[in-house]
Amino acid sequence: MADPALMVWIDQDLCTGDGICEEIAPDVFQGRDDGLWVVKETASNWGADIVFDGEQAPDGARGVARVPDSQIDTVVEAAEECPGECIMIEPFDADTFAKRGA
Ligand code: SF4
Repeated sequence: MADPALMVWIDQDLCTGDGICEEIAPDVFQGRDDGLWVVKETASNWGADIVFDGEQAPDGARGVARVPDSQIDTVVEAAEECPGECIMIEPFDADTFAKRGA
């Protein structure tokens, strides 16, 4: 599978819990039981469902999800609309990806 252009993570310390990100990009963002939002990868895009919720996989800065290239526009829109300014989009980095622990 080809590397994506981008990765994304959420700083849960800044998340306001409004869920706008999931409304815009439900393939990449998901609400957690504590009312904060996390990133995810879906099987339809990456072959396995992984939720970076701090249980199945790390949350915060260590919980980077790959952004499907088809989702770049919606993920960027979600980051722009995020009132907490806590959606962090980064270029795909193989070293960070290898260390993310998922
Ligand atoms: S849009 Fe931002 S502040 Fe709102 S739930 Fe998503 S990550 Fe949290």
